[in-house]
Amino acid sequence: MKFSDEFRDKDLIRDIARRLQQLGGKPATIMEVCGTHTMAAARFGLKELLPPLVKLVSGPGCPVCVTAQEDLDGFLALGKEPGIVLASFGDMLRVPGTGTSLEKERARGAAVKVVYAPLDAVDLARQEKEKEVVFFGVGFETTMPATAVALQVAAADKVDNFSVFCVHKTMPGALKALLSAGEVKVSGLLCPGHVTTIIGAASYDFIPRDFGIPCAVTGFEPLDLLLGVESILRQLSEGRAGVENVYTRAVPAQPNPRAQALLAEVFAPADAVWRGLGVIPGSGVKIREKYRDFDAQSRFAALLAQVPPPPPTACCCGDILRGVMAPKECPLFAQACSPSQPLGPCMVSSEGACAAAYRYERD
Ligand code: SF4
Repeated sequence: MKFSDEFRDKDLIRDIARRLQQLGGKPATIMEVCGTHTMAAARFGLKELLPPLVKLVSGPGCPVCVTAQEDLDGFLALGKEPGIVLASFGDMLRVPGTGTSLEKERARGAAVKVVYAPLDAVDLARQEKEKEVVFFGVGFETTMPATAVALQVAAADKVDNFSVFCVHKTMPGALKALLSAGEVKVSGLLCPGHVTTIIGAASYDFIPRDFGIPCAVTGFEPLDLLLGVESILRQLSEGRAGVENVYTRAVPAQPNPRAQALLAEVFAPADAVWRGLGVIPGSGVKIREKYRDFDAQSRFAALLAQVPPPPPTACCCGDILRGVMAPKECPLFAQACSPSQPLGPCMVSSEGACAAAYRYERD
């Protein structure tokens, strides 16, 4: 029995239907910001379970997917240099760069190593003293503290052949840009639980205040997601908008002070380029001057300056990440593009909207 069948008659589903009735039958478009939410919603059949007037759309919360093509191309270019070892989380391996990928480069003989944590890359540098080990620092506030620790350890232990290619991003800035653009009309946002353990639920206060849209911070179990949907519909039906935390077992209202202190010590706010969203001011971080020797973009600046900008692509991941297109609306979906022949990161990533739709929502 599927989760959606098991829960069809439960109180929470009735509550959601009742809230929708209180809205006078108006449709509600709810963005699940996080890629893990997207995958969970597809996996557990929540779209099928929810009333048809509730539409879930994906947002810019898959860290692999939002990594800009130019950043990936820069990292790939470093791997062509003799003596450089590229260290990356495994989910970046099959993401297509311009004409290649980390996986393809590895097959051609480039030194590409999969690591499970940034500190593994520091250990790799200790072992490969004759090589330069460059770690691809990808992800949101959730993964940033681990990169910060790796930089601190490398600096303290003088692991001088280690550096970080930092493309970390911060979530609130992207949400602000997305909502300000007004391309997609959303009734509410399901905000990512794991990011919020670091930044605190209050970080989203600007959304109801400036955009009049309710938010719910949710976890990743199907019930967490349904609680989030209920929270948003309840706020709408009561004519109010706030930030409700329905993931209180993990998420505090305020930022995690230790994580924030760690991040502030290692990183400074910076502009970041997002796939599909372009450059968003203040939506990323750069490595502080104190750790400059471990900053790959600084260490290899001359080499990276020669990497050409990526050409246009037929992949519509940018539209999908902005919520203006559903995966199945991409003409390449399940045709030229599939998990075995991915043309974009949304089909590669385990949190990608196209991968979720391909795996769980194909007719
Ligand atoms: Fe890109 Fe493939 Fe998704 Fe289309 S189906 S948006 S080509 S990843």
